[in-house]
Amino acid sequence: MSIAIELPGLSETQRQIVELAREFARTKIEPFAAEWDRRAHFDREVIDELGRLGFLGMCAPEEFDGMGLDTVTYLLALEEIAAADASVAVSLSIHNAIPTTMLTRHGSDAQKKRWLKAMARGELLAGFALSEPEAGSDAAALCTRAVRDGDAWVLSGAKAWATNGGTADLMMVMARSEHGICAFIVPTDAPGYRPGTPEDKMGLRASNTVALALEDVRLPADHLLGEEGEGFGYAMEGLDAGRLGIAVQAVGIARRALEHSVAYCAERRQFGRPLREFQAVQFKLADMATRVEAARALAHVVATRRDRGEDTSMPASMAKLFASEAAMWVTTQAVQLFGGYGYMRDFPVEKLFRDAKVTEIYEGTSEIQRIIVARGLYPRG
Ligand SMILES: Cc1cc2nc3c(=O)[nH]c(=O)nc-3n(C[C@H](O)[C@H](O)[C@H](O)COP(=O)(O)OP(=O)(O)OC[C@H]3O[C@@H](n4cnc5c(N)ncnc54)[C@H](O)[C@@H]3O)c2cc1C
Repeated sequence: MSIAIELPGLSETQRQIVELAREFARTKIEPFAAEWDRRAHFDREVIDELGRLGFLGMCAPEEFDGMGLDTVTYLLALEEIAAADASVAVSLSIHNAIPTTMLTRHGSDAQKKRWLKAMARGELLAGFALSEPEAGSDAAALCTRAVRDGDAWVLSGAKAWATNGGTADLMMVMARSEHGICAFIVPTDAPGYRPGTPEDKMGLRASNTVALALEDVRLPADHLLGEEGEGFGYAMEGLDAGRLGIAVQAVGIARRALEHSVAYCAERRQFGRPLREFQAVQFKLADMATRVEAARALAHVVATRRDRGEDTSMPASMAKLFASEAAMWVTTQAVQLFGGYGYMRDFPVEKLFRDAKVTEIYEGTSEIQRIIVARGLYPRG
């Protein structure tokens, strides 16, 4: 049995998409990932190329030029990209899951024709700005202001850690009007939209993460998504999809750490034999493989339920919680199995270990996922 996604069990469409993603990841991402990480280099060209192949339109409906994939197929493709580089995967994940879902579900026909089509065709890269310096886990406490001024909306405030914030063409920005939290489509060339310098991060160093200053960003009225005051609900729907993306990003990271570990333990010899012959090593590898398989399976089960139209808010949190903690655990074991080499930047598991950590933090920390799951156990409060 293989640790990677096994092709024979997939539908023809799934197989073609996984093969395309795998080949692209093998040739255009993985050989460069360590260098991008060292230089903290966000590679827009690789994102554009993925866009031309349709990977920025995986979740958008076909009538708006997307691939209209079911969630499981989307997750299969994303895992392949994440196994090569989690930084590239997070750009795809946010774009496909959050602004795409929000626009598809709540955009007007005109907004979909103008923004969603271009996003799906890979001509526009999108991001999502919810978090603020004083509103992270408690995102509903955000205080970026949206004030109506004649035919326009004027946004002012500060956002924190916006992925793609300095490299995207448009951001879905959450701001508070007198009627509640709203979602706005903000082109990043709008006057007053000011991204900060990229954050110097522990991992995911090739993704672009910035603070945003919104200095009286003036937007035409039709840049409001859906209904005024309903934006927080739209954002939570986007995050339900987003959390499944982060779950398989974690699976991709963990799987690659396991693949490297299996190969290393077959080669590295101590006490006159390969590490793989020690039972303590075998047990570690077995536990790693079991967690990778379980994390993937849970994400796919939740995705199947989502595709059936079920409310998957609570199970998506379970999938993200389980997969991110599995990734942190598996990459920690991988570093241990590599010994001193595991601690060196020249060996791949060190980067995987650093990349894994953020999956326990963003799109809701593990503590917040546990709160959501526990709330689901007492649905009537
Ligand atoms: C690399 C990166 C990329 C990101 N990208 C984006 C993005 O694109 N868009 C965006 O909007 N945001 C983004 N974020 C922000 C991310 O979603 C937040 O960092 C996250 O939600 C946690 O918020 P916080 O950092 O303010 O931590 P805090 O909310 O301050 O939490 C600190 C600690 O307290 C714990 N805690 C908080 N409340 C509770 C509670 N009630 N019970 C128990 N424990 C609690 C948390 O779990 C955590 O351990 C990104 C962050 C990072 C690091």
